[in-house]
Amino acid sequence: MASADDDATLRHPLSEAVFSSPVAPGTGWPGDPATAATPVAEVAAQVRALAAGASGVGELDALVSVCRACPRLVAWREGVARGKRAAFAAQPYWGRAVPSFGDPDAAVLIVGLAPAAHGANRTGRMFTGDRSGDWLYAALHRAGYASQPTSVHAGDGLRLAGVRIVAAVRCAPPDNKPTPLERGTCAPWLDRELQLALPRLRSMLALGSIGWDAALAAARRLGWTVPRPKPRFGHGAEALLVAGDRTVRLVGSYHVSQQNTFTGKLTERMLDEVIDRL
Ligand code: SF4
Repeated sequence: MASADDDATLRHPLSEAVFSSPVAPGTGWPGDPATAATPVAEVAAQVRALAAGASGVGELDALVSVCRACPRLVAWREGVARGKRAAFAAQPYWGRAVPSFGDPDAAVLIVGLAPAAHGANRTGRMFTGDRSGDWLYAALHRAGYASQPTSVHAGDGLRLAGVRIVAAVRCAPPDNKPTPLERGTCAPWLDRELQLALPRLRSMLALGSIGWDAALAAARRLGWTVPRPKPRFGHGAEALLVAGDRTVRLVGSYHVSQQNTFTGKLTERMLDEVIDRL
C-alpha cells in the first residue's frame, strides 16, 4: 500500500508524467477536461445550477470531474485513490468524479451505473481498466463504434464514434451502491447530458436496472413522454420515449459486470444483439 508521500512520485503508466492521488484538476492527466479554475459543486444546489448552465458537453465534463457534492462518495473515492489495490500500487489514481466519454455529437448514449473503485476511479475514464470495460469496448469495437477493442488506460488512443458513455452516478460508491440521496444529487448531470444530446439522440442503452431506471427518471424530469405503466427492465427490453418531435429508443441490457459475464448470464452474442438495435 502506498503512502501519501509515495503518491507524489507515482507516474501515469502511459504518459509517465507524475501525479498525486487523487489527481489535481488541469495537471496533465490524459483526457482531464478540467482546469484549476473549473467551478466546483460542493452541494446539491450547485450541481443543479452548474449542470443547467453547461453550454456543451466539454464544459459539462469539466464540471462533473471536479464535483464534490456527496461527502460520503468523495471520501470513499479519495480514500481508495490513496490506499490503492496492491496490483496498482505503483500507479497514481484519478480519484475524482468520472466524466462521460465518447463522441460529443453522439446519436447513441450508453447509461452505466457508477465508476468502479479500481477501474474508472483509477484511470479517470468510463469503463476503463477493468473486466467490465473489456467486455463493453470489445463489443463497441465489433459494432464499429470504437477505434480499438481494448480500454486499458486514458491516453491509449481509444476513440468512440457515434456513442457517448454516461452514468447515473459519477463517483465510485462503496459496494457499488450509491444511496438514493446520492443518486438524486448526481441526477442533474445526467439530465443535462440527455438535454444536450437530444437534437441528435436516436437511442440509449441502459446497463442494468439502475441504468434503466436512471434513464427513465431523467426522461420524466425533462418532460419527455414515458410509457405508463413504467416499462420493466430486462435484457432486450425496449421503451420508446417521446421528446417533442423526437422518439428515442431505450434498450435494456444486463450490466457488463463480472458477475454477469463470468456466470454466462450475459454473453458476447447477447450484448452484440442489443447494441445492434441502437
Ligand atoms: S456522485 Fe455525482 S453529485 Fe455526487 S460528488 Fe460525485 S459527481 Fe458529484
